[in-house]
Amino acid sequence: MTAWPAHPDVTHFSFLGSEDQLACPCCLCFTPTPKALDLLRIVEDLRVWWRAPIVLTSMTRCPEHNVEVDGKARSSHLITLAASRSGVDLVPSLQSPQIPARSLIPLAIERLAVRALRTPGVTGIGIYDDYLHLDNRPPKNSGRHYLWEDRTTFAQVDFLRRLRDYERNQ
Ligand SMILES: [Zn+2]
Ligand SMILES: [Zn+2]
Repeated sequence: MTAWPAHPDVTHFSFLGSEDQLACPCCLCFTPTPKALDLLRIVEDLRVWWRAPIVLTSMTRCPEHNVEVDGKARSSHLITLAASRSGVDLVPSLQSPQIPARSLIPLAIERLAVRALRTPGVTGIGIYDDYLHLDNRPPKNSGRHYLWEDRTTFAQVDFLRRLRDYERNQ
């Protein structure tokens, strides 16, 4: 097993001995490409701003594991695309001072999504019921983000449209 090389910019997440899934869970593949490190720096900045734990539930996937978890064909989690992009799924703790006490996970995910939208280097944001997906795939020519939502249990009120408004008004 390869250890994640200690990096002064990434102190809250580690390859070994933590719940963070930087490597593929089935084969432990992981390559510390510049894109992967860039994304981890971004997540580190979000973690510092959040002032509460954030758990990375999926980062690298081999093609077989990506199929197993119904990942998209060109998912930014794929190790085969690691030279050009990296993707991560994360679950924020509800103990953050950035959300009101007793908030539920959908609100925490929305708060983090808005913050991520304003963070340089993030180009893809996916909103799910119980986690947030972020990636740094090559940007669109328009400079706009890849934004999508796949929520089933939370009656969202035009959250994607709100994100687009934030994007326009940056
Ligand atoms: Zn694997
Ligand atoms: Zn993802």
